[in-house]
Amino acid sequence: TDFGFTQVPVEEKAKRVADVFSSVATRYDVMNDLMSFGIHRLWKRYAIELSAVKRGQKVLDLAGGTGDLAKQFAAIVGGTGNVVLADINAPMLAVGRERLLDAGIVVDCAQANAECLPFADNTFDIVTMAFGLRNVTDKPAALRSILRVLKPGGQALILEFSELQLKPLKPFYDLYSFRILPLMGKLVANDAESYRYLAESIRMHPNQETLLNMMQTAGFEHCQYHNLTGGVVAIHRGYKF
Ligand code: SAM
Repeated sequence: TDFGFTQVPVEEKAKRVADVFSSVATRYDVMNDLMSFGIHRLWKRYAIELSAVKRGQKVLDLAGGTGDLAKQFAAIVGGTGNVVLADINAPMLAVGRERLLDAGIVVDCAQANAECLPFADNTFDIVTMAFGLRNVTDKPAALRSILRVLKPGGQALILEFSELQLKPLKPFYDLYSFRILPLMGKLVANDAESYRYLAESIRMHPNQETLLNMMQTAGFEHCQYHNLTGGVVAIHRGYKF
């Protein structure tokens, strides 16, 4: 089926991403639960487990939005560790910071573009980026930037929508993404456009093997990925040595 993809010019993409997340910031959490049937919580828990994060470590949750991962990391690294919640979008970051403070959790917050991170080389043990990379205009630059701020021995975990591996389910997945999602966006958030963008950005994002190659090209080592929910989502991991 032709769902009418539109290739967005580079400079327009950054503006569109800013508009989308400024517009959804306050309803972001509720929409996330609704649209994924709560499964995003399992995907994120899996990422935390895979990271094997330890007390005292330094973690950057990049494109961290409302801070789901940052919150769980903060509970594990404790007072001797440090978690930085970073996002390019001020309204998303504000919602995240408020939400964590309400839960009694203090993390450092930084408004930062993944393409040119404002942190020193070799700073973090773990960098996570959940559902953020597909919004970035220059993905190779973001991957290089992540690698730079990782300590030697550190790991990057990229959680992102990917290519469905269960082909018989494709018609249902397409129907859900391109018809039901925008409708839910319209009914719940009165914002069909943002959720149409979401569906389009998912389909245009590099698939499992392509992202793996991009990480290797950026200089990550021991790169591998795990498919979750039949490849709807994949977690890519790469190390800096
Ligand atoms: N990580 C959170 C989660 O999993 O719920 C939020 C994901 S949200 C779908 C994507 C986030 O990426 C938004 O908060 C957006 O502002 C952020 N983002 C988009 N482009 C970015 C960039 N170039 N650098 C940093 N963050 C970016």
